[in-house]
Amino acid sequence: MDFDLSPEHEAFRKVVRDFAESEIAPHAAQWDEDHTFPLETVKAMGDLGLFGLVFPAEWGGGDGDFASLCIAIEEIGRVDQSMGITLSAGVGLGANPIFRFGTEDQKQRWLPDLVAGRALGAFGLTEPDAGSDAGATRTRARRVGDNWVIDGTKVFITNSGTPITSIITVTARTDDGISTFVVEAGTPGLTIETPYRKLGWHASDTHGVILDNCSVPDHHILGASGSGFRNFLSILDDGRIAISALALGCARACLGSAIAYAKERNAFGGPIGRNQGIAFALADLEVAVENAANLTYKAAWLKDQGRPFTHAAAIAKLYSTEAAVTATRVATQVFGGSGFIEANPIARFYRDAKILEIGEGTSEIQRIVIARGLGLPVS
Ligand SMILES: Cc1cc2nc3c(=O)[nH]c(=O)nc-3n(C[C@H](O)[C@H](O)[C@H](O)COP(=O)(O)OP(=O)(O)OC[C@H]3O[C@@H](n4cnc5c(N)ncnc54)[C@H](O)[C@@H]3O)c2cc1C
Repeated sequence: MDFDLSPEHEAFRKVVRDFAESEIAPHAAQWDEDHTFPLETVKAMGDLGLFGLVFPAEWGGGDGDFASLCIAIEEIGRVDQSMGITLSAGVGLGANPIFRFGTEDQKQRWLPDLVAGRALGAFGLTEPDAGSDAGATRTRARRVGDNWVIDGTKVFITNSGTPITSIITVTARTDDGISTFVVEAGTPGLTIETPYRKLGWHASDTHGVILDNCSVPDHHILGASGSGFRNFLSILDDGRIAISALALGCARACLGSAIAYAKERNAFGGPIGRNQGIAFALADLEVAVENAANLTYKAAWLKDQGRPFTHAAAIAKLYSTEAAVTATRVATQVFGGSGFIEANPIARFYRDAKILEIGEGTSEIQRIVIARGLGLPVS
């Protein structure tokens, strides 16, 4: 067995960490406060090759493995969860469906810009009445001549309204089940609603999307007609490892700053970290971070080995995201009152963490996936 990442992985981690600390960390609080989507920084992430890491060189990608993408998301997420999810969703929900299920023509049309980070793609699955139960999709697509005409409403769609959003891949009910369609930004009948005011992820772009008599050409269907349900489940498997990496970045940031503060903050004549009440909480967090890292990179490794990873991805996502929420709560407690003040990044992490337990499958859905993996007939 070998638990070490390779020297190349570690060198890559340093490159991303340097970028995150110099180009993202100094601005994250302001973007959060202003609810700004920092377009130039996202493009700089593209210039660094982060959106293309896992795609083949023939599409402009880095020919890298999934572990590298996890490293990038973890390191970006360690300073700014909003930029971490922008990267995770841009790769996993934007480019990946085109790469996995697109025809040669579809790839040529959309993939190079997505891989380069010159464009962002979004994935519209969730609807007002179909979230965890995505099979209850109500959006419909019907054939009219050589086109598909789509009607429906999608909610909470990440990266759907940025200035560089090129496509939104949406699921819709067809006569043979659920199918997936690529809708280009600016298509008549596609309306991107005003951005949500969210508890966290303020610098991440999230909108509701309305499709009203929205007509796309026949060749915009992605994958075989009726295969949309199966296809999006496998897209979400990849995404769950990525969200686990994002949660790991959050938990690591909280642990690191709480340890530093526990050493320097004095109360009752000494550092607060000499109290077992503080030290043990941080020891428990260290255990959680270690577990989250092992589960995340094991799931990535299984995927990179071409082995089944649905079960491992659900375990990693469930554990890491719940660890991240705990980490933000514990770190805030260690900081006392100053942890509740927005000038402290811990306050931002506290608000950002909760969605990790909800997006790309809630904790309850992960438990269902894991229980089914145990052969239990849970519904
Ligand atoms: C900021 C943000 C970004 C997002 N980005 C995207 C995106 O890019 N694309 C996209 O398609 N969606 C996106 N989502 C949607 C997200 O994936 C859904 O919110 C999530 O899957 C949960 O669906 P829901 O909100 O409809 O909750 P529901 O499915 O209504 O669930 C409500 C509660 O019931 C629980 N529950 C449901 N079924 C069961 C069950 N069988 N057993 C036990 N408990 C159950 C859930 O776990 C949850 O606690 C985003 C959401 C947010 C907030």
